[in-house]
Amino acid sequence: MAIHLWWIGEAARDEGTMGMVRTQVEGAFETEVVEWTGAQRPSGTFDTRRAQHSSRGMLGWLHATWPGGATRVLGVTDVDLFMPVLTFVFGEAQLEGDAAVVSAARLVEPGNQALTVARLAKESVHELGHTFGLLHCESPRCVMARSASVRAVDTKQPRLCPACRDKYRLFQQEGHHVYREDQNPHR
Ligand SMILES: [Zn+2]
Ligand SMILES: [Zn+2]
Repeated sequence: MAIHLWWIGEAARDEGTMGMVRTQVEGAFETEVVEWTGAQRPSGTFDTRRAQHSSRGMLGWLHATWPGGATRVLGVTDVDLFMPVLTFVFGEAQLEGDAAVVSAARLVEPGNQALTVARLAKESVHELGHTFGLLHCESPRCVMARSASVRAVDTKQPRLCPACRDKYRLFQQEGHHVYREDQNPHR
């Protein structure tokens, strides 16, 4: 059950960035991660009034455009993303769906590319965790903790905490598509 990563940003794909995202996603989910390098880029997601891209629109585009062949796809971009009620989002996932998107736009640390990429890798794991049905975690160091600021992202580890890892492994052992719980957030 491989996970596909797909650079869909406006800048050229960066080998180091995608390599780090891949390593951290592989480590967190203990599964094969493959990079998909299709040349298509999102269309119809730009909101001219806000000058941002709709994260929901990105998910729809990914779902419709990605050729499949893996269990999940994570679109990685550099454009600024929003959801209607929020100023911006680091990313968004279809809870228990097959697509997630993450953006480096609000994670950039000027002059510190390594920190920027580390943040992007954490939020990548976070959004993919939602597609597996994992919800927000109360542990501030768990990658599934809710992050409203880059400082909160920096507090997190790039990994699932033991409790979240148990839930994820349980879902794998039982062969379910996702881990289920009776709540329903997703950001
Ligand atoms: Zn956790
Ligand atoms: Zn979240």
